[in-house]
Amino acid sequence: MIPVNEPLLPGRELEYITDCITTGWISSAGKYIDRFEREWAAYCGRKYAVAVSNGTVALELAVSALDIPAGGEVILPSFTIVSCLEAVLRNGLKPVLVDCDPRTYCMDIEDVTGKIVSNTAAIMPVHIYGHPVDMQAFLALAKKHGLRIVEDAAEAHGAECLVEGQWHKCGSFGDVSTFSFYANKNITCGEGGMVLTDDLATAEKLRNRRSLCFGTKERFRHDDRGWNFRMTNIQAAMGCAQLEQIDRFITRKLEMAKRYNEGLQGLPLQLPHVEPWARTSVWMYAIVLDDSVAFDAVEFARRLMDQGVQTRPFFMGMHQQPVYRKMGLFQDGYYPVAERIYRRGLYLPSGQAITDEEIKIVIKIVREILS
Ligand SMILES: *Cc1c(COP(=O)(O)O)cnc(C)c1O
Repeated sequence: MIPVNEPLLPGRELEYITDCITTGWISSAGKYIDRFEREWAAYCGRKYAVAVSNGTVALELAVSALDIPAGGEVILPSFTIVSCLEAVLRNGLKPVLVDCDPRTYCMDIEDVTGKIVSNTAAIMPVHIYGHPVDMQAFLALAKKHGLRIVEDAAEAHGAECLVEGQWHKCGSFGDVSTFSFYANKNITCGEGGMVLTDDLATAEKLRNRRSLCFGTKERFRHDDRGWNFRMTNIQAAMGCAQLEQIDRFITRKLEMAKRYNEGLQGLPLQLPHVEPWARTSVWMYAIVLDDSVAFDAVEFARRLMDQGVQTRPFFMGMHQQPVYRKMGLFQDGYYPVAERIYRRGLYLPSGQAITDEEIKIVIKIVREILS
């Protein structure tokens, strides 16, 4: 079988992790934590980085750090992972969903504009499958309406977006920006996350709340509420080793996408689109079946799996989730693009470990199924 994603750990991962074990620095203090935070902030062009245990809690912590009064509205895409929505709900805020762009699958700016009300406090742009959200437009919108930005860059390590004629890394745009280092992300710690900001007060708040807001003078005297969202030095050790290889990893992803693009020409499929203002990092090679194809993505995935090609379906829209509908949320929204790509989309094997030979096999099987 060709797996949908397999990480590659060919660098100094084992050396650095062994260093943690032999020196005893296995918990959430240690030189790799400091180094990973420092180097990831520098890579993304940010002042401060706070390492956490995964990308889901990174979002929860990031939203918390904005201290938006209860009931404030946060606009986010329906087409995303549940972590984004949970970050809003768990902070006592009101999620407002928008549909996505049919070509990039990122949130639709016109839909966002139409949903800004006096109670809107923040927007959460989520870069999808490695393609950036149009940050120039979002930054302008946020400025015009005085909104905060929580940027979820969990799928966009190393991706870039053109703003005012300059390329900027994803993760550099939000008042707070987050990453995940889960095993299928462009670089991994196994499990891990990061929150970035340029504001010192926000960074301190993030650091405190990451670690239960222990007192500075008297350790067990607490002035604020927090969580234990700490990353371990072992996770950070892997992160440091992965970061040493990120340029090569992204080059390989772009090469993979080029091969898929060439091999899948002329089929009734929408291949990944890259806007002229975007530099994708191709987290996943995502495709959407044209309406002319008689079956949907579930059947397509089944046929691919029969031939040994593992895939993953697209996100189910947040407005379609049984759990939130039961809570009475999102009863009257209209998100036709998110619903269509959920039915028609999947992503092909796209991991760092995929070989050119495997890409060829996947292309051949997709061509057979669709012609
Ligand atoms: C992976 C992902 C997350 C969550 O990260 P975890 O580390 O798995 O908790 C958040 N947002 C997006 C868009 C993701 O793809």
